Amino acid sequence: MPKAFFIDTSLCTACRGCQLACKEWHELPANHTLQRGSHQNPPDLNPNNYKIVRFSEHKDDKGVVSWNFFQDQCRHCVVPPCKEVADMYVEGAILKDDATGAVLYTEKTAQLSAEDAEVVREACPYNIPRRNEETGVLTKCTMCFGRISEGMLPACVKVCPTGTMNFGEREAMLDLANKRLAEVKKTYPNAMLADPDFTSAIYLLTDVPENYYTYAVASASPMDRKRFLAGLAKPLRRVFANLG
Ligand code: SF4
Ligand code: SF4
Repeated sequence: MPKAFFIDTSLCTACRGCQLACKEWHELPANHTLQRGSHQNPPDLNPNNYKIVRFSEHKDDKGVVSWNFFQDQCRHCVVPPCKEVADMYVEGAILKDDATGAVLYTEKTAQLSAEDAEVVREACPYNIPRRNEETGVLTKCTMCFGRISEGMLPACVKVCPTGTMNFGEREAMLDLANKRLAEVKKTYPNAMLADPDFTSAIYLLTDVPENYYTYAVASASPMDRKRFLAGLAKPLRRVFANLG
């Protein structure tokens, strides 16, 4: 049965335990960081951080400030555009495990040229994959595939102390997401679920997506469907050019 994350941002305290647990489980090295005047650190996803907590501050019309936290990671798309594109260059570089729904990047991603890897990256409507420039490997959240295959929770879910991070059967997570949405809407009328039909990381947002992050939902991201199709057409054009 496919699995899914349910990420209830209304409960997050931004402790960043999930970010650290991910790093520890994958034995990823430390990054050199700087004080940038934000708790968001490192500033972006990178080959050593498959998950980061994004911080976003907003003032409404009445001057009330809200602080939104977004636990950014691969959404393990139901039909992953990154895989669709990667398959055109290197078959098997990106896999989708039908049993769990996990989208898995393999060492074969290193066979993608830098240019082709960029096309794969650009196919992601959530701006997730990052290329390790030393090894050439593309990186992102693994759904803790080794852990979930043994019946354990992903590391980020295991450590989350507030109930923000949830993981289980996709249907159960959708039920939980809809139940929480109905509750949260009483306090936050703008509350919504982010792309629940297309992803296996379903977010409950209490505010409009643009008050979280540019790529919080696919429709709000610069990589909309039109650009995704353009990305698909690019490698196809190259294939036809080679045939000609
Ligand atoms: S979120 Fe991006 S990287 Fe993850 S499966 Fe979807 S397209 Fe691929
Ligand atoms: S561990 Fe939970 S509460 Fe802490 S930042 Fe991550 S999602 Fe938020």
